[in-house]
Amino acid sequence: MQIVCLDLEGVLVPEIWIEFSERTGIPELRRTTRDEPNYDKLMKGRLALLAQHKLGLPDIQKVIAEMGPMPGAKAFLDGLRERFQVIILSDTFYEFAMPLMRQLGMPTLFCHKLEADAAGVVVNYHLRMPEQKREAVKALKALNFKVMAAGDSYNDTAMLAEAHAGILFRPPENVIREFPQYPVVMNYAGLDAEIEAASKRI
Ligand SMILES: [Mg+2]
Repeated sequence: MQIVCLDLEGVLVPEIWIEFSERTGIPELRRTTRDEPNYDKLMKGRLALLAQHKLGLPDIQKVIAEMGPMPGAKAFLDGLRERFQVIILSDTFYEFAMPLMRQLGMPTLFCHKLEADAAGVVVNYHLRMPEQKREAVKALKALNFKVMAAGDSYNDTAMLAEAHAGILFRPPENVIREFPQYPVVMNYAGLDAEIEAASKRI
């Protein structure tokens, strides 16, 4: 039995914080773990910025809904789900992803959670567990699945390493250089073909 695990941002939808920063004109929201390695500090800073700009969850979700998935993502995912069980493993939050998941036909998503107050102000965030992408693949293997995984960045490499087959989708140059063991694909046709090939091999 085989199963496919896909990263979300950079594979099926745009990078949510970066796109959100552009659409709202709040450049400070572009900061990533590269600028602020302390994730808790980064997230608390983001939540403070949202509150300061009076952006509650409904406003945030409206902006995210307008982003839409990447062109071709829905057709790719629909086709894949006809042949394989698919789980999306992401480090985003359900409340952010939901407007995009609706547009992707509500595939299964494992990610994290935000906490909002009655007025819709995001007051905190909750990570379900550390290293959840890798842990999910590990758990699926314990359930006797052969796992194929695809992602675009550093936060996917533990998941790719844990899977029976790992694939990089449109990764940055430095990730290609540092992880030469994974095939690199640049579009959905290539990703589909690579998953098919892996499914015959594993
Ligand atoms: Mg990604």
